[in-house]
Amino acid sequence: MIVVPLGIASATPTSIRHLPSVALWREGSVFLFDCGENSQMCMLQAGLKRSKIDSIFITHFDVDHYSGLMGLISTLQLQRREKELNLIGPKGIKEFVEWNLGFSGVEISFDLNFVEVNDDIDEMRVLDTDDYYVEARPLKHKKFCLGYRFQEKDKPGKVDAAKAEQYGITVDEQFKSLKAGNNLTLEDGTVIESYEIVGHPRPGDSFAYVTDTEYCPNAVKLAMNTNILYHEATFGNQLADKAKETGHSTAADAARVATEAQTKLLVIGHFSARYTNLHLLLKEAREGFYPTWLAHELRPIFTDPSHERGILEPKVELVDLTKKKPHSGGGNYRGGRPSGGRSGGGRSGGGRPGGHRSGSKNFRPRKSRDGAPSGNRGRYGTSTQDNRGGDRYRQNDGGSYRSNSRGSRDYNNSDRNSRYDDSKPNKSITPRTGYDDFNRF
Ligand SMILES: [Zn+2]
Repeated sequence: MIVVPLGIASATPTSIRHLPSVALWREGSVFLFDCGENSQMCMLQAGLKRSKIDSIFITHFDVDHYSGLMGLISTLQLQRREKELNLIGPKGIKEFVEWNLGFSGVEISFDLNFVEVNDDIDEMRVLDTDDYYVEARPLKHKKFCLGYRFQEKDKPGKVDAAKAEQYGITVDEQFKSLKAGNNLTLEDGTVIESYEIVGHPRPGDSFAYVTDTEYCPNAVKLAMNTNILYHEATFGNQLADKAKETGHSTAADAARVATEAQTKLLVIGHFSARYTNLHLLLKEAREGFYPTWLAHELRPIFTDPSHERGILEPKVELVDLTKKKPHSGGGNYRGGRPSGGRSGGGRSGGGRPGGHRSGSKNFRPRKSRDGAPSGNRGRYGTSTQDNRGGDRYRQNDGGSYRSNSRGSRDYNNSDRNSRYDDSKPNKSITPRTGYDDFNRF
């Protein structure tokens, strides 16, 4: 399964973040969790076909979580969809959709299968097929809100081909029957038990979608032992009061749920528009639960990390935040470039004195002999504008860049050192987002 965050904002979209929506791709079908404004466009950008949507799950009726729903249904109608669409949400979703369709006089050509969840349930299986099921549980928000868990059912174990050959099993039907757990009687009367040929069932993958909520036990139940938990982290620790007041989680709350549920990977999203530097939230979440990633719009996350092989560069070394000059030892970023060369070590060795601001925008033009494009990052890091990071960062997260001159007072080096002086050892990790380089924090 592949999880693709489509919108990671909360409440109000920003110039770089869309309203909440997360797509789950499985075996050619798409399952949409929440459908904020712009979800259908983001799907296109993510390379997901709208016609492949199987089910849409709405968590609650805050407008930002369903404002894209009618637009999407209208598109599906214009595409002359024929396949049934499952629409799952709190009670009222049927009335809302049907009223809208009636109001605009649209008659849709496909069936809508509504599954409404009453607010008095503790747990409900909202979808159940041969291969997977989806479970909903109420969360703790200002209004009735559902969290979801998408669970693949156990897959049959692997067939021991050599053993099967020994017994003379060759027919497909025989394999099917054994895989289904039935015993097989051969022509000579020998009975072969299923377990002799078929290995242990393999557990299916799972994904939990938990937003919007304060910390609550149901969130832990939904996320128990999942491959991926997508959890809201609207606020940081400093605004823990506001989180409680508005029925939301802090990054630390998300980490608490992930820890108690022993999920394999926590992905935090649903960020308040006030955070232009999301690494603050990532840092706080990782203090509680290390395998945490920031949701990054359109950046796919695989439930089985081994499937990511070949898509990403293999490994990077995280730079210790507490070091004053994060780039000083950064041979990692310079690829094959010889250290100590004129363009590499020469400049990082004090080529630009501190406080010499004029150099910050005036980068030396890229030289073709540098080869690797990553070569520039080392140079940026040595400038006095260290906090601003490289080009990629600006391009992807313009908000951070613009606000940085205002916010930099809070994050100057001395302050940062005193606040985050719990130096963790460098860990080697596989990158998932473009923001893994901690030295941009
Ligand atoms: Zn929300």
